[in-house]
Amino acid sequence: MISVAELHAYNTATALVRRKLRLSLVTSLTGVSQRTLRGIWREIHGEGAPNGKLPEFAQSLITSRQIAASAAAFVSVYLQQYGPVKGAINAEHLMGAVDLSARFGNEVNIATAFYCLRDLKAGFLMFPKCCQCGARYLYDSSGGRHLDRCPFCSHAPLKR
Ligand SMILES: [Zn+2]
Repeated sequence: MISVAELHAYNTATALVRRKLRLSLVTSLTGVSQRTLRGIWREIHGEGAPNGKLPEFAQSLITSRQIAASAAAFVSVYLQQYGPVKGAINAEHLMGAVDLSARFGNEVNIATAFYCLRDLKAGFLMFPKCCQCGARYLYDSSGGRHLDRCPFCSHAPLKR
């Protein structure tokens, strides 16, 4: 007999697999085993799930100024809807903010969205307000290539 909590986890995991989020991330968000997820992936996509190493940080997925801008816009939507991430990332909130962003014409990769939230919470990323254009953007003080300046107007904060 399956419990309501398990059923909920399977439904959420299926929704995440539909969006092609990597299985290790789906497991971390839902607790559903990789083995079960591989079956779900094959059933939905008609092929095996990709293997391979995941990036460690959002920085490695933010490979262009455009992606930095859309990730920042996603984070703004997320924070407005759900507030800062406390504890574990909530899969429904993640998908909700990705969908809401898309409705505003801002498509963001769900894995990029996940890592941005995680790295913000961990303090690897900051979300300052640009002192030139007033937009909020993702900033990495260690100087990620597209994370060292505002992606909307290119203004770079003064290094201390
Ligand atoms: Zn700016």
